[in-house]
Amino acid sequence: MKKHNFYAGPAILPQTVLEQAAKSVHNFADMDLSILEISHRSKQFEAVMDEAARLVHELTGLGDDYAVLFLSGGASSQFFMVPMNLCRDGEKICYVNTGTWASGAIKEARLFGNVEVLASSEDDHFRHIPKGYSIPSDAAYLHLTSNNTIYGSQFHAWPDCPVSLVCDMSSDIFSRRLDFSKFDLIYAGAQKNMGPAGVTLVIVKKSLLGRSGRKLPTMLDYRTHADKGSMYNTPPVFSIYVSMLTMKWIVECGGLEAIEKRNEDKAGMLYTEIDRNSCFTGTVRPEDRSRMNVVFIPVKSEFEKPFLESCRAAGCVGLEGHRSVGGFRASLYNALELSSVEVLVSVMKDFEAKNG
Ligand SMILES: *Cc1c(COP(=O)(O)O)cnc(C)c1O
Repeated sequence: MKKHNFYAGPAILPQTVLEQAAKSVHNFADMDLSILEISHRSKQFEAVMDEAARLVHELTGLGDDYAVLFLSGGASSQFFMVPMNLCRDGEKICYVNTGTWASGAIKEARLFGNVEVLASSEDDHFRHIPKGYSIPSDAAYLHLTSNNTIYGSQFHAWPDCPVSLVCDMSSDIFSRRLDFSKFDLIYAGAQKNMGPAGVTLVIVKKSLLGRSGRKLPTMLDYRTHADKGSMYNTPPVFSIYVSMLTMKWIVECGGLEAIEKRNEDKAGMLYTEIDRNSCFTGTVRPEDRSRMNVVFIPVKSEFEKPFLESCRAAGCVGLEGHRSVGGFRASLYNALELSSVEVLVSVMKDFEAKNG
């Protein structure tokens, strides 16, 4: 049975990418060897690495003044690598707390800098994106989380920032057009919207490398990876390969403009149904709703189980809300087809006809 994959992460990848990846597990680049059993120093893999970095530059429009790194350790390791590399001992660093991942970043940052949380939506159960705070001009940077994967909110506008802007884009990287040059450092774990788990993309302005002046372990210093093209040690070969294929797929779809349109159509269709349907309510303020992770709850808690069962019966999987929020979460990452949202919407309509 066809499955409609609404999982939040690791998450759906394009079918053609999975087919190409499966082929390369058996025979990569006509080497009669698997991508899983070749040297990362082979010219065939070096070509993958070069192409992956080139595609990041193409999709972001960022030039050679930015280094593109493919690291391991997940987005969670960037929570400490960012302050270790960018913040001098005792320096002011600013954060906006928009949810679980932002809170995680704040916790680690306190180990290295003088953290100021400029704004937080915690008192509102993270149902909106804070606005209107002022940003001190003596801070090393401001850290934002562009999309709040768990609670389902997303930045649709950026504050005017007098200092370096750092952004965790793990769950909405390459989902829309952005002026990427606003950011001095962007990071994203691949497994939401870019590829399989195991690799984290870091895009950093070269002029910031070494800024903290700290003595760092070699592997935790961005300069090591920037100098060696992410090949200082063995990189996560397969995850980088599949991420490269996915970025190529984005370009073939028409680039970020086409992807953005597709994502707007999917999210628009689902939010329209949530707002119309008498059995469900959206949790996030309309102007801050995420186009990637759509969070909604049933109007009666006894609807929860039977609705998830109806979804499963229609092939829709991964709709359980995060354990800290409950209800439902539909993740609509790039590779999800509009037709999958149509199936979910029809399940919601049927559910209303029977229970509303
Ligand atoms: C999933 C997620 C993370 C954590 O990613 P890991 O790669 O599991 O460490 C961090 N930030 C955001 C926004 C996420 O969605």
